[in-house]
Amino acid sequence: MSTIQDIFQTYGPQYLALHEDRMPRVHKKTIQDIIGCRSGSFGTILYGCHDCQTIQPIPCCCGNRHCPTCQQNKMDQWLHKQMEKLLPTHYFLLTITLPHGLRQVVRSHQKITYAALFSCTHEALKKLARDKRFVGSTRIGYLAVLHTWGSMLQYHPHLHLVIPGGAVSEKGDQWLSSRQDLFVHTKPLEKIVKAKFKDAMTKAQLIDKIDPSVWKKQWVVDSQAVGKGQNSLRYLSRYVFRVAISNNRIKSIENGVITFLYKDRRKKTWKTMALDAMEFIRRFLQHVLPKGFMKIRHYGFLNPNSPFSIKQLRELISLIHDIIRDLLTEIPEYKKQEMKCACCGHALTFIAFLRPPRWGPSG
Ligand SMILES: [Zn+2]
Ligand SMILES: [Zn+2]
Repeated sequence: MSTIQDIFQTYGPQYLALHEDRMPRVHKKTIQDIIGCRSGSFGTILYGCHDCQTIQPIPCCCGNRHCPTCQQNKMDQWLHKQMEKLLPTHYFLLTITLPHGLRQVVRSHQKITYAALFSCTHEALKKLARDKRFVGSTRIGYLAVLHTWGSMLQYHPHLHLVIPGGAVSEKGDQWLSSRQDLFVHTKPLEKIVKAKFKDAMTKAQLIDKIDPSVWKKQWVVDSQAVGKGQNSLRYLSRYVFRVAISNNRIKSIENGVITFLYKDRRKKTWKTMALDAMEFIRRFLQHVLPKGFMKIRHYGFLNPNSPFSIKQLRELISLIHDIIRDLLTEIPEYKKQEMKCACCGHALTFIAFLRPPRWGPSG
């Protein structure tokens, strides 16, 4: 099977040679990390098997958040964390996409504009949620995740929100449920987000760089009611916890051409696309975020600093719905995968960490 790492190992050095002097450091580091992931460049851990007396070296992974291999490994753990926060109510997936006309400015000012997209959306949602026709309180909570890609790896920044359907009352003493079919109307949401984003661009002195027609066009805001329970939340969590492209979409790497699968949104089918390796890497790197930028954020009652614990929220919700509390006891416990011996299958134990040569001698 071909992997993203194969692509970077084969063509990464050529890409670096061509563009190194004009590349942001975080892009160079991403290329180097992906190339070196599990190759020994990040050190090696020696494990031993008591049963068959063998020693097994396991090279360390890079841990880069844009590395598809490392991200895949984090998925289970992250999913489990989300499941622990499952609330016994219905959920929504809201998606807000920045229009084409903004992308040039957004690409050159990522930190400011991405942050503005998060905060403007939050303000707009709170404003609408206060309305009694929707929820009747601003004390909402949700998970927001920034994606910057489309299926063909093109630059396509959008924000996904995973929202439990309701809010804690302003007094904090009861749960107010939202409608089953929508959290808030998307039309006013689009208007408010757009207006707030425009203000944010004015404050950031970027407004003159933006074609004014983007403020007149309708932005794409999509709302999907996804139901309740573990399966809905698991589906949503998997959907939002991704990197630009996963290994299983790479079909072949041949003669400088990368063939990969992409989803045709209109026809809802998978298709194949072939790209020159340099173009593939260029597209991949567009989705490397500024250093330290948080692409996953928890708001309101799902924020770790919220005065409400998940347990309290569940209790509030169960007072108004006749909840099947058992729904919450089914969550399987998360077990970190044990290292198993390649020869006999018994558990391995840690012996030592070997530093990579470039770190110099230890001690
Ligand atoms: Zn890695
Ligand atoms: Zn997305």
